[in-house]
Amino acid sequence: MNTAYLGLGSNLGNRLAFLRGGRDTLVNQPGIELIEASGVYETEAVGGPEGNPLFLNTVLKIQTSLEAKQLLKACLAVENEFGRSRPAIWAPRTLDIDILFYADQVICEKRLTIPHPRLQKRDFVLAPLMEIAPDFKHPLLGQTITELAAGSAGVAALTPLRTIW
Ligand code: AMP
Repeated sequence: MNTAYLGLGSNLGNRLAFLRGGRDTLVNQPGIELIEASGVYETEAVGGPEGNPLFLNTVLKIQTSLEAKQLLKACLAVENEFGRSRPAIWAPRTLDIDILFYADQVICEKRLTIPHPRLQKRDFVLAPLMEIAPDFKHPLLGQTITELAAGSAGVAALTPLRTIW
């Protein structure tokens, strides 16, 4: 069994329903167990055109017997189940699921990069991670989530919209 952290985001349609659906579908699969969920945060879309709708974001801590690649496959299947299409790189999305960390593994392959390469720059990932994994050490950067978040004024400013969801 390995511990992994998944980042979920939605900025289209009934965003909370997509996060709930993604969470429940993922953790009902064999080999995936939910350990903890952060609150849900409402955040500005990073990059992309002005006026992109606001996101809801959350992070899940799971335990899994799936290998990282199998876990990615499961995440992509759940995204597809919830109607994710990729018309353009910044297009609003019903449900986006990223593997942020998989144990302390470092993977750099064409279709899978772990730790997620941009997580340390994203307040919408660091703020929820601060709740449920403040002492987790980034296996490449050697800094804890608390240390990574300390460099960002934006993280402190983010408070969850919902703590229970
Ligand atoms: P996106 O359009 O942002 O959802 O990107 C999805 C693609 O990113 C997937 O098809 C994956 O192959 C690739 N990918 C690479 N690393 C990761 C990761 N750590 N978590 C999720 N997807 C990843």
